[in-house]
Amino acid sequence: MSCYGSPLYSTSSCFPLVSDALGLAQSHSPHNLSVQSDLKSPSATLHTTPPLPMQSMSDEKYPPLTHQSRIIVVGGGGTIGSSTALHLARRGYVNVVVLDEFEIPSAQSAGFDLNKIAGGAVKEGWRGQLSGEIMKGWREDPVFSPYYHETGRVTGAHRFPEKIAKLRAAYDSAKADGYGKNYEWLDSGEAIVSKIPQLAKGNLKDWKGLWVPDSGWVAAKDTISSVGRELSRLGVQMIFGPSGKFKRPVLSASGKVCVGVETADGTIHKADRVIMACGAWTPSLIDLKGQCISKCWVLAHIQLTSEEVKSFKNIPVLYDDQLGFFIEPDEETGLLKLCNEFSGYTRILHSQTPFGTSHPQDISVPRSHAVHPTDTIPTEGLDDIKYLISTLLPDFQDRPLVGAKMCWCTDTADAEWLFTEDPRWRGLFLTTGDSGHSFHTIPYVGSEVADLLEGKMSAEKQKAWGWRKPTDPNGTGRGGPPPKDLTDVLGWTNGDDEEEV
Ligand code: FAD
Repeated sequence: MSCYGSPLYSTSSCFPLVSDALGLAQSHSPHNLSVQSDLKSPSATLHTTPPLPMQSMSDEKYPPLTHQSRIIVVGGGGTIGSSTALHLARRGYVNVVVLDEFEIPSAQSAGFDLNKIAGGAVKEGWRGQLSGEIMKGWREDPVFSPYYHETGRVTGAHRFPEKIAKLRAAYDSAKADGYGKNYEWLDSGEAIVSKIPQLAKGNLKDWKGLWVPDSGWVAAKDTISSVGRELSRLGVQMIFGPSGKFKRPVLSASGKVCVGVETADGTIHKADRVIMACGAWTPSLIDLKGQCISKCWVLAHIQLTSEEVKSFKNIPVLYDDQLGFFIEPDEETGLLKLCNEFSGYTRILHSQTPFGTSHPQDISVPRSHAVHPTDTIPTEGLDDIKYLISTLLPDFQDRPLVGAKMCWCTDTADAEWLFTEDPRWRGLFLTTGDSGHSFHTIPYVGSEVADLLEGKMSAEKQKAWGWRKPTDPNGTGRGGPPPKDLTDVLGWTNGDDEEEV
């Protein structure tokens, strides 16, 4: 997925470049999960999602936040949500409730994946501090540290002089600022192979590269599982299945305060604070006024033998923003994950009325592999991944691709998070806009959300992450060409729900 253009951690990229710190389909049935219900709405089965705020509860003053406050984290089976529940519980909040359609680790989370790129330093200021806290979490926090692998990373550039110049500028600036003192400029394909001998047969003619030693990868869904175990240990209540699937917020009689949520089965869950951490689903649930556009990226794997897995042990991450990237194979399954690079795909559905609007809108709505397990990826994506393999790992070019799937993120125009109390409804907090680079932040991102709730978020973060006007008419959030829509590409539906595509 193309992460260039993200200023969240650097001026240029989300995970692969120098100054960045950010930077399969296990089908979980939502229906046989342990569900703890709250309060049954008497009229539950009659609701048809009216566009106006529901006024089913008596008007209340906005209650002060205490350690006893009931705080609901919607989407708590995913990346930002699970981290949020963890940090709230660690800060002493004893009434934290996780809601999610899927059991943690949610099979439709963007983090439900073998691995993700992580690590790298950021130069200074609050972003540098944030990066430091994230890396401290990966290195020192027992919930996270077993899942971080500091293999180093090579970011490559080739063919386009401007890409090479940009990579070189990133290297020079890292050296000048001191945080990149261990970085190395790799001036040739041979120099890249010296860092990644497994690329010896690859076509690296005219490649340049950047060696970032304090980077690597993290075992993604295993990390979320680890957070889930810690949430259980800390006594966090978790509700999955239809009673965890958000339908809409419940407002006070004035319509100005969020006092809970209604879920798909009609349950009303009362709350003092509601945190919406539904990732790519958020814009179709709450009207975000165009601040986030959800898109999917694609991934596939090749199966390695145990001997091959051994020969790839500790291989650094290889990232190239034209071809894509791959990460050390999974020791247990022998799967090597590969991703191509492109602008992502939207899935625009018409006449959507997320909560907060009565005007039907065109909104990009995720379609998850967890719900549609026969979906694969567009043919062009498969072709790109095959090209990545034939260029870099030609020994595997005839190996079939397996476990191909799409993975959903939501981009803001400036690639910064949207972390704010909703200006329309007190007590409803939006924690989304992951912009494709948020997995890496899981050890710490929830602390930022806890600060938001406690009114401690710094002015500069409020400015960067607050409610704001969308500014990118193409909705790329990353520069580059506008995304294609899934309806315009072939090969991914495999006959499942064609009419719903
Ligand atoms: P998610 O983790 O998707 O969580 C959303 C949660 O909301 C899910 O659990 C879902 O079940 C739940 N939900 C949805 N609807 C409802 C509802 N109605 N009611 C209740 N719950 C609901 N990031 C990196 O840092 N490094 C990488 O290398 C990297 N690589 C990536 C590669 C690919 C192919 C993709 C697609 C993404 C990659 N990312 C990477 C990005 C990263 O995965 C995301 O930024 C991050 O996981 C998003 O977290 P989130 O919490 O916003 O959303």
